[in-house]
Amino acid sequence: TGFARFALPAVVLKALDAAGFAEPKPIQDQAIGPQLEGRDILGIAQTGSGKTAAFALPILSKIMALGTKRRPKTARALILVPTRELAVQIEETFRLLSKGAHISTALVLGGVSRFSQVKKIAPGVDVLIATPGRLHDLVQTNDCVLADTKWLVLDEADRMLDMGFIHQVKRLAKATARDRQTALFSATMPGEIAELAEGLLHMPVRVEV
Ligand code: AMP
Repeated sequence: TGFARFALPAVVLKALDAAGFAEPKPIQDQAIGPQLEGRDILGIAQTGSGKTAAFALPILSKIMALGTKRRPKTARALILVPTRELAVQIEETFRLLSKGAHISTALVLGGVSRFSQVKKIAPGVDVLIATPGRLHDLVQTNDCVLADTKWLVLDEADRMLDMGFIHQVKRLAKATARDRQTALFSATMPGEIAELAEGLLHMPVRVEV
């Protein structure tokens, strides 16, 4: 497939094939290579552009190289999103693209049982997809520890801003590993998002589709 030019694990290439993803979309074309090399990404992209796989594929590749020993209450990668619907979709994409590999995912969302989320995170997870409010709560009670979280994605950052999540997003980002790799995606780039990006991203590669 067209994805074979990226240094992705064989199991991921197989999952792409099974999912019917034959050719990378433009955002994937631009963003996957730099992320595999460890670069931060500032992405201007809409839903439907294929941005989920653009950040999921590099994160999965890197996590698969780590083995399955996870620390309790941790997440190796954190994806922050504005809404429950988006979180569910993103978890589905991670599962689709890691089919056949031992990758654990968890959702942390407001409005549903906190207890079941705490239980899910307790042994440590590879990929945590969360809305900022509830995750902020779990971090404050020490039910989730982000200090070793080395991959951070802010998806639909402008919508998180519109929904009043910006303060919690900043606090959560601060709680992750200092040497993390970060990607920020937004459909628009108002001043506040540009400022957020400036504070969180280290020499990002800018991709726009
Ligand atoms: P997203 O913008 O991430 O929500 O993706 C939009 C839709 O495109 C989803 O239904 C994906 O499953 C699909 N998609 C993403 N990348 C590809 C690809 N390279 N080939 C075919 N479909 C894709």
